[in-house]
Amino acid sequence: MSFVEILDSLALRKSELVEHFERLIAPKSDQDLEAMAQTSRSLTLQNFGRTMRLFAPLYLSNECINNCRYCGFSRDNPILRATLDVDEVVAEARHLARQGFRQILLVAGEHPKFAGRDYLAECVHALAPDFSSISIEVGPMETEDYAPIVDAGAEGLVVYQETYNRGVYSEMHTSGPKRDFNFRLDCVERGYAAGFRRLGVGALIGLSRWPDEAIALAAHLEHLFKHCWQAQITVSLPRLRPAAGGFHPLFLMTDRELVQLVCALRISFPQLGIVLSTRERAPLRDSLASIGVTMMSAGSHTEPGGYTRQGREHLHRTVRGRIVAPEYQDGEDELATGQFEISDERSPAEIAEILRRRGLEPVWKDWDRALCGV
Ligand code: SF4
Repeated sequence: MSFVEILDSLALRKSELVEHFERLIAPKSDQDLEAMAQTSRSLTLQNFGRTMRLFAPLYLSNECINNCRYCGFSRDNPILRATLDVDEVVAEARHLARQGFRQILLVAGEHPKFAGRDYLAECVHALAPDFSSISIEVGPMETEDYAPIVDAGAEGLVVYQETYNRGVYSEMHTSGPKRDFNFRLDCVERGYAAGFRRLGVGALIGLSRWPDEAIALAAHLEHLFKHCWQAQITVSLPRLRPAAGGFHPLFLMTDRELVQLVCALRISFPQLGIVLSTRERAPLRDSLASIGVTMMSAGSHTEPGGYTRQGREHLHRTVRGRIVAPEYQDGEDELATGQFEISDERSPAEIAEILRRRGLEPVWKDWDRALCGV
């Protein structure tokens, strides 16, 4: 059965695992939550040791043909846009490599003209000698379009469904190919068929009630663990931040609820990689590092060229998708606009030091590929 069918019948039929997960995310006393955190901590230790993988996002392009109400990169926003050429991508990546990173996530808005298959394969090919793990987070593609990107050296594919609620999905994605809910839902499996061996999924927290999103996400994870069994599966739980275009999250999730969700995911899926981005504040990131999170971004920039100010020659604005000269407003930085605000602005070295102080080993380079021969 495809995951589309499973999702559509989820209200009527849940697996035992998903029912158990639903009980884990129900409101809990402080004492019960503490017990969950203890179990989560020891399962994380058993399955991942005292390690924390560190990675950095590298934004290639903020061009996009979609309008998503919560995202500053939306086509109709008159933001400063740029797509880095391959040399500029390499310059940004070298900066990250000098900071210690060997795991990188290439991010681009959905725009086949600017960030299509051939461009992505070229970027991956140029970075492969310097990075042990390259993942991409770009618009969904067909299996045959992913294949050359895998061949060039990418091993990871990240595709958040954003929301598993079809009605909310339709309201949030007002135009562009992203309106096709099912095409996005099946994307991770198309990536697996093309050869990606790290698969990342997630839902944006803030578009609908978080427990509903979490239950659908758990069902998706269960499906992927069964059907993509050769891949490492990761999940990300980005809580929405204010973005260009004036969007504010519609539903809130407290820090306590986020901690409970991380624990519930760890208890239900002991081998699941759990990713936490710099959207979250430093103190919360530090405490989640010991409870269940296994992978963190650090020192992130969400604007193309943000690390070394690359790409300024290509800067332009778009008005309803039409390219116009940039015309900077007073005090505006001559740099492409970022996707969202960062909350944890500590440097990668500072974050690594804090992890060490908490008894965790920061892992900059992942040896899995060499060990597994994948
Ligand atoms: S969320 Fe992705 S697809 Fe939507 S506007 Fe932003 S970059 Fe484009």
